[in-house]
Amino acid sequence: MELIFASGSRHKLKELEKILKPHTLRLPVDLRVPFSFEEGDASFLDNALGKAKALYASVKSPVIADDSGICVPSLGFMPGVVSARYGSAAGEEPLSDRDKIGLLLHNLEPFEDRSAFFVCSMALVLDSNRFYIVQETVHGSIAFKPAGSGGFGYDPVFLVEDTGRTMAELTETEKNLVSHRARAGIVMKRLLDQPIK
Ligand code: IMP
Repeated sequence: MELIFASGSRHKLKELEKILKPHTLRLPVDLRVPFSFEEGDASFLDNALGKAKALYASVKSPVIADDSGICVPSLGFMPGVVSARYGSAAGEEPLSDRDKIGLLLHNLEPFEDRSAFFVCSMALVLDSNRFYIVQETVHGSIAFKPAGSGGFGYDPVFLVEDTGRTMAELTETEKNLVSHRARAGIVMKRLLDQPIK
């Protein structure tokens, strides 16, 4: 099935298109479809479904969207839904990945518990009355300093449980076996492979 991915992130596109293969993904920007969605602070699920439904309203063909982020229990589950905007106020230019990581490491300094998990909510909208949501996680902890050059975002400081390596030290193939996005995408692929007629 050909899906439009309600995102502007080529990093996410690259990861997800490998997981969903042979289904294909196109970004709105590559189809010259204007798309923007203001994410709220309520939940990953609301943002994923909101993005998918908003894009479906303009393209009227199957859409997939994800909303993801990193949650740190010691920080009251922050950055959470505001992971992309951590450290900047609404409407301000977001910090660079490097600065967001710096802020996270600084804020976590007083805490012994460095456990963390990534969440990915994924929404598939087939038509205005048919949609599916999957939410998945991957658990680990926050390293004391960044390591690795793969992935994006918080990957250099996220130590994947039972591996001793950060997400950025995994190969693309390894990340795509364990990540929150991979785990949600694998379930979505099952739905796409066997759609209900
Ligand atoms: P959003 O899903 O577009 O709201 O962005 C979520 C933010 O969470 C991204 O900008 C990253 O900072 C972070 N994030 C989401 N998924 C990942 C991942 O797989 N690795 C590292 N950071 C991620």
